[in-house]
Order: sequence, then structure tokens, then C-alpha cells
Amino acid sequence: MKARLTWPTTIALAALSAPGQLLAESNVQLRILETTDIHVQIVDYDYFQDSPSMTSGLARTAALIQSARAEVSNSILVDNGDLLQGNPLGDFIARQRGLQTGDVHPVYKAMNQLDYTVGNVGNHEFNYGLDFLGQSIAGANFPYISANVFHDDGDDDPDNDVPYFDQYLIVERTLTAEDGSEHDINIGFIGFVPPQIMQWDFSNLRGRITARDIVETALELVPRMKAEGADIVVAIPHSGLAAIDRRGMDENATYYLSQVPGIDAILFGHSHRVFPGDRYADIAGVDITKGTINGIPSSMPGFWGSHLGYVDLQLVVSDTGEWAVVDGIGAVRPIFKRDGQDIIPLVEPMEEILAAVQEEHEATIEFMRTAVGEITVPITTFFALVRDDPSVQIVTNAQRRYVERIILGTEFEGMPLLSASAPFKVGGRGGSGYYTDIEAGEIALKHIADLYIYPNTLRVVTMTGAQVREWLEMSAAVFNRIDPHITGEQELINPGFPPYNFDVIDGVSYAIDVTEPARYDRGGNLVNADSHRIVGLSYAGKPIDPEQVFIVATNNYRAGGGGNFPGMDGSNIVIEAPDTNRNVLADYVFELRTVDPSADGNWSFAPISADVNVTMISAPNADKALGPGSPIEKIGVDSEGFGRYRIRFGN
Ligand code: MN
Ligand code: MG
Repeated sequence: MKARLTWPTTIALAALSAPGQLLAESNVQLRILETTDIHVQIVDYDYFQDSPSMTSGLARTAALIQSARAEVSNSILVDNGDLLQGNPLGDFIARQRGLQTGDVHPVYKAMNQLDYTVGNVGNHEFNYGLDFLGQSIAGANFPYISANVFHDDGDDDPDNDVPYFDQYLIVERTLTAEDGSEHDINIGFIGFVPPQIMQWDFSNLRGRITARDIVETALELVPRMKAEGADIVVAIPHSGLAAIDRRGMDENATYYLSQVPGIDAILFGHSHRVFPGDRYADIAGVDITKGTINGIPSSMPGFWGSHLGYVDLQLVVSDTGEWAVVDGIGAVRPIFKRDGQDIIPLVEPMEEILAAVQEEHEATIEFMRTAVGEITVPITTFFALVRDDPSVQIVTNAQRRYVERIILGTEFEGMPLLSASAPFKVGGRGGSGYYTDIEAGEIALKHIADLYIYPNTLRVVTMTGAQVREWLEMSAAVFNRIDPHITGEQELINPGFPPYNFDVIDGVSYAIDVTEPARYDRGGNLVNADSHRIVGLSYAGKPIDPEQVFIVATNNYRAGGGGNFPGMDGSNIVIEAPDTNRNVLADYVFELRTVDPSADGNWSFAPISADVNVTMISAPNADKALGPGSPIEKIGVDSEGFGRYRIRFGN
């Protein structure tokens, strides 16, 4: 049987195999190319910004594919999934136009031109349901694999489980050796998806499929692939690289796969990161110069087509057809580089790819401006810092609905759930026009992009009642202290405090007493330990229990420590959802169609008994969002074009 040879052994064998001798051996190079996490980003275009992109698009990666192929005698191309969902083109096809029998999804109109050998299924492939997934991949001119997904037969007997996809693929290829001779090889490919799909897409998948542990599946199947004739085995896990101990059902299992005997190369993905890369330098067994994990050549090429990944294997084949891997490297090539603030493209898009999806691309740009739902009240950010506001409420409502779903069947089901978000486009350095302003009625994806401008991903953290209070105290540092003894004008908003750090937490109710000094400064330092601005904090109609444990929906920025909030350093993240908050919001509108984003009034300012003169700035036309009886009134326009407003504090 084939052995894993070391270089000295190879040289020794080669020395013996002079021309004319029986023991002959040839050196063969094989390059395996990978795309991953394309997320429907075929065209180099940012649909949310409505402008060209030089940092994304398979059309650009395709140019790298062509040149990387041209350099070598033997190459093979694989895709590692998260292909069908994640940008407006994906939503347009799945939610608006649909796929009729025989329709080819635009991603395959593009990819079918690139001679892929195999595709692996990513977690996001399940987002639009199994039927859409089946219709979509039917249009691929290459096969699909996924080893750890099974039909749910409901009998709790794993022995009779039927795989939902082909678990692996063994293809025969003729490779050209360095000496020009040709040799047949059987290349085995095995794909994996995080078993967390059962949590993330519970409502689509429950009762229909089940998912198994990636490593257990590999340990069972790799020997079977070898027995069926695979000369080498290439793993394509849609699964990241983590340096933590294996716990079973791991989301990021690539490290453990590198320790599974028989796997010769790993083309991975899912994390949207780049391997080899500095962030992985300190993991034991990882060589970021060579691109290996425990000696196994490996690659992860970013996301949205930002990079092409590849592994170069050096093989030897004996005259009896025995193959051995003697060395290999993993690497990536980017489609752009940064030069300070500038982005320098390193390739041009491949015209054939652009042409293949031109109709769908143009329809998607139109779709961005097309109503996907309706809102029953206007959404503006003019006064989102000074009153409970639909622009934040619609986000917290959407997050809550999403989290309620993904915790079904988990240890978090039934726990008290809160939802936090902040206003984003609220003037400031963006100027007097930098506000969200959406009228009641039709709402389009461009509005959703405007409401949630950051590409954050959803996170869930655990927090005690006491920690929730501190979170809100930090938010409340956006306000200057209002002195009730001063009769002159006092500006309410501290312009040095980023408005995106003014988190509103829905699910609790509270008032903010701005006559107290801020408890924290903007760096999260406790500067007034005796001061409390948050008053009357209650949950379910009762004063909050400082010991009670809550789960709180937020984003990766806040949960990871962004904004220096007390108690937030990433350690209390309990769910890392695979979806962006913006996508959570879009899905909320897609599903409800008619959305009432009215603020529930869960927070307000504590009344001030003195007659204070408190002002703020907003858009010059923001007064259109003030109803009769509003405590806010317009008092003028300042020299920078901002409207000036006075706020009454309900004394
Ligand atoms: Mn992805
Ligand atoms: Mg609210």
C-alpha cells in the first residue's frame, strides 16, 4: 500500500530508478484551487452602496483561477459553499424571482464556465430551505458533496441513517509528471458542514435532516474512501480553524481534521478569514509560512471572492501506480491590496462571468429600490438619541424574533430575552443630511441598508440584571449632565460620544436621569461611582433582579468589547449567529411584509422639575417627525445647517 514518504526516501528511490531499471518513480505536482464563502457575490459590485467593488466578486477571482491554472500541468478547482445566500442578488433570486424547473441559478451560470470539479455545501445553503437548495444545485455542472448531513428518519437509530447528499466523491484524473509521463490517480474529496445548521436553520430543517460531528464522520469515511481506491484525500470542510480543545459537534473542526489519518490537504472556509495568515501564527502545529496545519497543506481564501485559495501537493508515483504525498504548501492570492486608504485591484474581472449574470445583476440593482414590504409608521433617526424610536425598535424587534427561533431546542430556550441596538445615521460628522428618513409605506432593501449601515453579525450574550444596568449606564454617557439650577441653554448630546454606542435595550424599561453625572466616560471607565442615571429599571413589570440571568441579542462589535462597555469582552458570548444584523432585519421584513416599527416606549427621560433650557441639533427638516404635543420643538438652524431643537423634560 501507499506510504507517506519523506524527501530523503524519495531521493533514495529516485537514485535507484535510473533509466532502464524496473523500479521507476515520477514526481508529480498537483494544484488544488478553492473558492469559498462567495455569498452570491459574482459581480464586483456592492449592491448596498450601489457602486462597483474592487474587493469582491467571483468575476475577479476567476482571473486568478485562470492564471493559477496556467502555471501548472495539473490543477483541480473546488468550491466550499456559502454560495447561494448573503447578498441582494441571492435574496432577489430566492425571495423575489424564484427558480422555476430548469432555471439555472446565476451563481451557476457563472461557475459552470470555470470547470469546477466538486462543490461542498455550506451552512448558508440551507437558509432558503431544502427545496430551493435542491433546485439551485441542480443547475451546477459539477457534483455536490456533504458527508455529515442525513435524512431525519425519526427512529433514533444512527445505523440506518441515509446520507442526504453524496458524502464524498472519488474522481479519476490523468496527471502529467515532471518528466512528461502520464499517470492515473484517484482523488477523493470529502465535504463537511457545521452541525450547527440544525440550530441556525431549525425551522427549515427540523424533521427533515440531521447533522453529525465532522471529525467522527471523517474518521469513519476516510478509511472507506481509501478502501474504495482514493490515492489521496482532499477535505473540503465548511468549517473554521480554532485552537480550542475538541468538544464534539464542533463548529470549527479544521484543526481536528488535520489530525485525521489519511487526509492529505484541507481547503476550508466558513470563518471569512484568510489562511495562511498572521492571526493563526500562534496555534501549535500551524506553519503560516508553509501554509500547513500539523503538516497538512491547507488554505482558506477569505470571503466574497476576496482571495483564491490553493494547495500545491508534491506527489510521487511508482511504476506500479502507488501514490505518495511527499510535500505540499497552502497559500492564497488576493484580488486587491491596500495602500494606505487606497484599494489597488490586482486583477480585472473576467468578462464572460459578468456577461453570464448581467440580466440578474441589473434586476438586482432595480430590486434594491423595489418595495419588499411595508412599514406602518415613518422611520427616521432625527431624534433617536432622545426618544424611544422606530429606527431602533425595528432592529431590536427583528433581532428578538431571530434569536427566539435559533434558541428553540437549546439550553437558552425560555430564558428571558432582551435585544439591544443603537441609532447609526444621526448627523454628527456625517453632516446635517446624515439621517435615515423613510416615509411610512413601501420599504426597499436600500432602506434596510440605510437603517443598518454596518456589516455586523448577530451575537447573543448572557448578562445578569446588574450587568444590564451597567450596560445602560454606559449608553447614557452620551448625554451631557443637565444642571437644573442653570436657566441658560444646555446642550444635551455629548458630541464626543459615538451615537452608535447609545444602545437601547428592549425587553426592559427604564428612565434616564440626565441631572446625574455620567457614571462612565466614553472609554468605559467608572468615573462617578456613586452616580446612577438609570432609574426605575424593570423587567416584566417588576424591578429588575440584579442576580437574574438574561440573554441579550446584540452585534459582534458590542459583544466583542467594542465601545468599552463594562462587562463586555467577548467572554460572555453564548451564540455567534452566522447572519448579519442587516440580514436579520431584511428577513424580518421579507417574512412579515407589513411591519409596525412603532416604538414601545420602554425608555424615557426622567422628569426634571426645574425649568431647564435643553437643546440639541438634528436635521434642519427633522421637525416633520414631531407630532402634536411633542416635547421637542424647533428653535432655529445653526451655521452648519443643522436644525436646533429644544426638549422639554416633562416637569
Ligand atoms: Mn460564509
Ligand atoms: Mg423600545
